[in-house]
Amino acid sequence: MQHLLIKKALIYISILFFCILLLTINQGRSLGGVFLNTTYSLSILIAFFALNKSIFKLPIYLTLSLIYGFNLYYSINYGSMDVGVIASIVETNRTEALEFFQSTSKLLITFTIVLIIIFIVVITKADQLIANLSFGSKLCFTLPFVLLTIILYSHHSIKNGFQLLKKNIFTNPFISIQDYRHYKKIENEQLKHVKSDWLDVSNQGIQKDIYVVVIGESARRDKFRFYGYNRNTTQDIKELNNYTVVKQAIAPSVITRVSIPRVLAINNYKDVNFNLNIVDLSKAAGFSTFWLSNQESIGKHASAVNIIAKRADSYTNVNQSNSIQKSDFELLDTFKEIIHNRESKPKVIFIHTIGSHPDFCSRVTFGKNKLKKSNQVEELECYDNSILQTFELISTIQSILKTELLSHSIVYFSDHGLVTAQTKPYLKHGVGKLFSEKAVDVPFFFITDTQDSYRVIDKTYFLRDFPHTFAQWVKIDAKQIDRSKSILNHDHSKLKQAPYTLDSKLGIREL
Ligand SMILES: [Zn+2]
Repeated sequence: MQHLLIKKALIYISILFFCILLLTINQGRSLGGVFLNTTYSLSILIAFFALNKSIFKLPIYLTLSLIYGFNLYYSINYGSMDVGVIASIVETNRTEALEFFQSTSKLLITFTIVLIIIFIVVITKADQLIANLSFGSKLCFTLPFVLLTIILYSHHSIKNGFQLLKKNIFTNPFISIQDYRHYKKIENEQLKHVKSDWLDVSNQGIQKDIYVVVIGESARRDKFRFYGYNRNTTQDIKELNNYTVVKQAIAPSVITRVSIPRVLAINNYKDVNFNLNIVDLSKAAGFSTFWLSNQESIGKHASAVNIIAKRADSYTNVNQSNSIQKSDFELLDTFKEIIHNRESKPKVIFIHTIGSHPDFCSRVTFGKNKLKKSNQVEELECYDNSILQTFELISTIQSILKTELLSHSIVYFSDHGLVTAQTKPYLKHGVGKLFSEKAVDVPFFFITDTQDSYRVIDKTYFLRDFPHTFAQWVKIDAKQIDRSKSILNHDHSKLKQAPYTLDSKLGIREL
């Protein structure tokens, strides 16, 4: 009798093991992490089964199965149920939610429902069987999983083991909701304190219909052909008639959240004056402002950028998860909607791309590698293709504006570069001791609709002073704007900038 019970219980536990594995494997973790999460979740479940029968077990199992299904659905769709997913659920309006539901694969929904049912059946059956076993047999079922969890946890290759256990398949949605509330609270608090402090704002001439600020991500200057790279990641400078290229731009820092606020707001060393940001400056000068993002919508990396982004008249984030980003080309639908709306005000549209952020190969899966293969390692091949993709994105924006017969100007810069490394992915953020000039060497160029020959500004420019360049570019002036910090000033001998950048810990690095 015992023997048969054990045999049956083993079958159910195996099915449960595969159900949980199917979920964790979709969460984009290392193989060790996947198994750690699976064995840990199973240990808890089996220990729970082993407890004597209780009337509260059924509602618990029903809840667990629904959480399992919810997790599975989002993991297959986005890689992981995380704070970004919660943000997209909470912040989506009814029409968007409906569109999302209609566009989701019915097969995936059916698959999820079937698995929830299997999970309920298996979990209740396994419980009945294990609860009736002798104490010794119960121990034999639980111990191997507990031991395996301990071994995996202590294995050197598994990083953030504690985080993995904390965010296991059952607690994950709750922790994500908690994280969301935490970050939202911080963000609202920060946003509450931002106001516009610009003084004496005035227009200095006829503006274009549309100004587009494309913010790149992790793009190294030396990987652009028109900056001297030997591969066709972009066109040659001679073919780019309407380009004005700044020869040597230096990013304010080596990571997005330190760099971007300093490109967009007046800053001095460690201080950023969020009340003097270029979104508010544009609004004060009579522009309609739009922010489109394909970056994290919420979380510890997002808030520093969001403080400025959410000052725009309209904010759209197309990214639904922090773990899997969409293609930057998905930003173009909203972009087209914005420019089709012909109001009398000129527009400034900020486009915050995911560009060439690691993992490079998942950046280019959307467009597939298009460059003729070289003998580089795969990661670097993908990286070069991600630069090509960025160039194609910018070219597409340009042609959309041309087709719509809108007068326009586009500026592009990257938030920071990356440094060469000996280990995967071979190009890394220049954080900590990895800091080097390459981590801040970025592309910076303008595209206009009125120029007939390319131009190179043979200067070093610290993008930390971009608000002054921006003002001159969109032809506005304000009391706090200093033309001696603008790269567009025709007399470049008058360019006066402090020659420094900040490392990841806000340390000052003189260049
Ligand atoms: Zn970045």
